[in-house]
Amino acid sequence: MLEVKTFDELTASVRGEIIQPGDAAYDEARKAYNAMIDKRPRVIVRCADVADVIACVNFARESGLTLSIKGGSHNVAGFSVCDDGLVIDLSRMKGIRVDAEQRTVRAQGGCTWGDLDHATHPFGLHAPGGVISTTGIAGLSLGGGVGHLTRKAGLSCDNLLAADVVTTNGELVKASAKENADLFWALRGGGGNFGVVTSFEFKLHPVSTVFAGPVLWGLDKARDAMRFWFQYMAKAPDDMNAFFAFLIVPPGPPFPEELHNKTVCAVVCCYTGPMEKAEEVTRPLREFGPPLLDGVGAMPFPAIQTAFDPLLPPGLLHYWKADFFKDLTDEAIEAHLKFGPAIPTVNSAVHLYPVSGAASRVGKNDTAWSYREAQFALVIAAVYQDAVDGPANIKWVRDYWEAVHPYSAGGAYVNFMMEEGEDRVRASYRDNYDRLVKVKNKYDPGNLFHLNQNIKPTM
Ligand SMILES: Cc1cc2nc3c(=O)[nH]c(=O)nc-3n(C[C@H](O)[C@H](O)[C@H](O)COP(=O)(O)OP(=O)(O)OC[C@H]3O[C@@H](n4cnc5c(N)ncnc54)[C@H](O)[C@@H]3O)c2cc1C
Repeated sequence: MLEVKTFDELTASVRGEIIQPGDAAYDEARKAYNAMIDKRPRVIVRCADVADVIACVNFARESGLTLSIKGGSHNVAGFSVCDDGLVIDLSRMKGIRVDAEQRTVRAQGGCTWGDLDHATHPFGLHAPGGVISTTGIAGLSLGGGVGHLTRKAGLSCDNLLAADVVTTNGELVKASAKENADLFWALRGGGGNFGVVTSFEFKLHPVSTVFAGPVLWGLDKARDAMRFWFQYMAKAPDDMNAFFAFLIVPPGPPFPEELHNKTVCAVVCCYTGPMEKAEEVTRPLREFGPPLLDGVGAMPFPAIQTAFDPLLPPGLLHYWKADFFKDLTDEAIEAHLKFGPAIPTVNSAVHLYPVSGAASRVGKNDTAWSYREAQFALVIAAVYQDAVDGPANIKWVRDYWEAVHPYSAGGAYVNFMMEEGEDRVRASYRDNYDRLVKVKNKYDPGNLFHLNQNIKPTM
C-alpha cells in the first residue's frame, strides 16, 4: 500500500478527478465495457490534460504501480483497467479540431468514433473508424481499425498523420513521418505498447450520404451466400464495403416480428461512391437469394455508424476469438456452416470484415499492421447478458475457432483478440515483430506499458 503522502503528491499535481476505493464514483469508474472484466485499481485518474497524463506516467513509473490506459474501454481483454494499479482514464479529454480545408482532424485520446463523426460530418468529411460509434478512437486506431471505410480509405491507422505521445519517461513527443518516424511506424498497428497517445491527427475523406444497411438471408442460403459474398467483394469497387455475418435477429424494431430470434446470415454494406450508381453496385447483393430482409438505403454516414449501437450496450459479457483469412475455400465454408448457425444467444455473432481495397495497397512493412494480403478478418464473438450462458458461448467460440483456424492465414487482428499469449502476438505481427521490439526497447524498455497485446522488450 502506498503512503497517503505519496497520493497527496499525485493529487497536488493533477487537475482531473482522482478516484480511489471507497469513493462513490469508484465502482462505475473501474468498469470496462466487457462485464467479464472485474478489476480493482488502486487509483483511477480522469485526466484533464496532457500535464495530468505526464504526472500519472511519472507517478506510476516512480512508485512501481501497474499502469493501464483507458480510451473507449472497449478492449474485450480488459486491458484498460488493472488490479492494484493506476488507470489513466482519458474519457474527459475529448477536444476535437477539424481543418476542413486541409481535410484533417485533431482529436484527443478520450474521443469515441461517435464524437469524431459528430465533429466532421457537417463538413462532409469522415475518418475511417469501426462499425460501432461507442468504441474509442485510441485503442481502435492504434491496433489497426477496420470498418465501413476500410476498402475506400484504408485502416484507421493508415490515416494517422501524427500523434502526440507521452512516453515512459514522462516526455511528450510528436510522432509523424518526419518526427520520430520509428515510433510513428510502430503506433500504426502496434497498439498501446509505446506510450500514452494524447492526441491523434487523422486524414479525412469526403463521405456524407452513403447507401448502406443489412441484407438478411435464411440459413438455407448460407452456403451460397458466403461464396457469393466472397466473389462479389473480389470484384467490387473500393467504394463498396460489405461484411458477412451470422446472427440472431434481435427481438425488436426495426426488424419485422416474423424474423425475431431467427438465426440468419447477412451482409452489412456501406457504399460511398456516386449515389447515381448505388442501385447498380448494390443490386447483386440485394437480389441474390431473394433475401428475407433488404434494409439497404440512402442515409447519412453517422446513421450506419450508430445503427448497431443499441445491440451492443456496455455491460454485456464478451468472449472473442479471431483470425485473418486470405481465401474462403469450400472446406472453410463447410466449417462455418457447422458453427455459424449454432449461435447460442441473441447478442453473439460472427463477422467477416473485408481488409481489402485501399487497406491492401499499403506495404506490409510500411506500418506495423502486417496482414495486407488478407482478404478478411474474422471475429467470433460470444456476447451474453447472463453468466449462466457463459459455458455454452465460450465453448461455441472455441470449437468454431478450432474448426476454421486451419484455413486461416495464421495470425489475427490484435483488436479482436483476448489475452492469448506471446506466440499469438508474434503471429499477428510476423516479420514486423522484431522491428516492434526495437522500437519498444527504445521508447519503453521497462515495459511500463504492458497491458496490451504486449511486445516484450529485450533490454
Ligand atoms: C462493441 C465493439 C465493437 C468493435 N468494433 C470494431 C470495429 O468495427 N473495428 C475494429 O477495428 N475494432 C472494433 N472493435 C475492437 C476495438 O478496436 C478494440 O476493442 C479497441 O481496443 C478498443 O479501443 P478503446 O479505446 O475503446 O479501448 P480501451 O479498452 O480503452 O483501450 C484498449 C487498449 O488500447 C490502448 N490504448 C487506449 N487508449 C490509448 C491511448 N490514448 N494511448 C495509447 N494506448 C491506448 C491500451 O493498450 C488499451 O488497453 C470493437 C470492440 C467492441 C467491444
